[in-house]
Amino acid sequence: MVTVPLLDLGPQNEALAPAYESTFKEVMKSNAFIMGPRLEAFEKSCAEFLNVKHALGVSSGTDALLLPLMALGIGPGDEVLLPAFTFFATAGSVVRLGATPVWVDVEAHTFNINLADAEKKVGPKTKAIMPVYLFGQSCDLVRLRQFADSHKLFLIEDAAQSMGARWQGHPTMSVGDFGATSFFPSKNLGGFGDSGLVTTQDDALAEKARILRVHGMQPKYYHKYVGANFRMDPLQAALLHVKLPHLPKYNCARAGNALFYHKFLSNVKGISLNGPDAQADAKILLPQDFSGEGIWNQFTLRVLNGKRDALKQFLTERKIGCEIYYPVPLHRQECFKGIGRGADHAPVAEKIAQEVLSIPVFPELAENQRAWVAESLAAFVAQ
Ligand SMILES: *Cc1c(COP(=O)(O)O)cnc(C)c1O
Repeated sequence: MVTVPLLDLGPQNEALAPAYESTFKEVMKSNAFIMGPRLEAFEKSCAEFLNVKHALGVSSGTDALLLPLMALGIGPGDEVLLPAFTFFATAGSVVRLGATPVWVDVEAHTFNINLADAEKKVGPKTKAIMPVYLFGQSCDLVRLRQFADSHKLFLIEDAAQSMGARWQGHPTMSVGDFGATSFFPSKNLGGFGDSGLVTTQDDALAEKARILRVHGMQPKYYHKYVGANFRMDPLQAALLHVKLPHLPKYNCARAGNALFYHKFLSNVKGISLNGPDAQADAKILLPQDFSGEGIWNQFTLRVLNGKRDALKQFLTERKIGCEIYYPVPLHRQECFKGIGRGADHAPVAEKIAQEVLSIPVFPELAENQRAWVAESLAAFVAQ
C-alpha cells in the first residue's frame, strides 16, 4: 500500500521556498501592498507567456469571468452560451449579472462544450459564448472563434484549468475577446490563496476592464462606471512571478504521468481510451488529450456501468486520493432551478456527471505512487 494524495502542494512549494521567502521579505519591506510595479511585472510576463497584448491580475478566477462580462456590458435580457458540465463559477458569474445562461451539452470524449448543440441553442438574445477548457484540454480554438464570429457573439474563454494549454500553437486565452484563468492553489499555476488573470487583445476592452477593476474609477474618486474591487495583491503577484517560469516544466511532468497511465493501462482488459474508438465492453475509459497540447489539470476517468462510486471507495481503501469533478451538471443545481434555457437537452452532461472520477496526476507524483494507482485500477477491473 502506498499513500497517494489527489494533490500534494508541499514538494512544489518547498523546492522554491528560499525564493518565496526572499520575495515575501522584499514586499514586506517595500510597504507597497496594493497594485504597483510588482503586479505590472507579473502581468507583463503573463502576457508574454500567453502571447496576448494585455493581461490584468485580478482577485480570483471567478472575478476574472465576472469582470469581462461587465466590461462587455452583459446583463439582464442577454444570453450567454456555456457548457452544462463545468465548475459553478462559469455560470455563477453570468447569473450574478442578471444575464441568462444557455445550457449547452458537452462532448463525452473531451468533456468540453458541444458546438453542434450550441448551434441549435443560439438565439436572437444570445450575446456571448463562454467555453471552458475543462481538466486542461483546449477546445478547437479556430472553430470556436469562427462560431462566435458567425453568430456575432463575444467569446470569453474560461481557461481556469488550462493555463499553458494550446490548440495548434495558439495559447488558450489568446483568441477570445477576453480570456480568464485562476491561480487557485489546485490549478496548474497555483498561488498562495485566491487570484486570477484576465487577458484581451483589444486596447479599448483592456482599458475598460482596468477601470472596472478599481471601482470604475478614473481619475481618482471620479467614477465612470459601477465597478468593484477586483485587484490582485502585489504580494501574490510577486510570489506567482517566481513560479511562472516553472509552469511549462510542471505541465510536462503532468503529461508524463498521463502517458504513464496510458502505457500501463490501455492494454488492460476492461480499460480503454475514451473516444470514438473505445472498446464496447470497457469498464473504465481513460481521458485522451485530443488537442495534443493540453496540460492535464485533472486526469478524469469515465467509470461505466454505474460503478463510479464503487471505484471511488475501492481507491479510498487503498489510500488513493480521488474526487468527483463534478457530481451535478449546472442546470440541475438547486440555485439554477428554473433559470436559463436548454436544460431540457443536455443528456451527455447528465450522463458523465454519474461517471467521472479524477485520479492523481500532479507533477510531483512519485514513480511508486503512480504505479500503485495504475495497479489498483487494473485490480478493480479484474474483480
Ligand atoms: C477554478 C475555476 C474557476 C474559478 O476560479 P477561482 O479562482 O476559484 O475563483 C472558474 N471556472 C473554472 C472552470 C474553474 O475550474
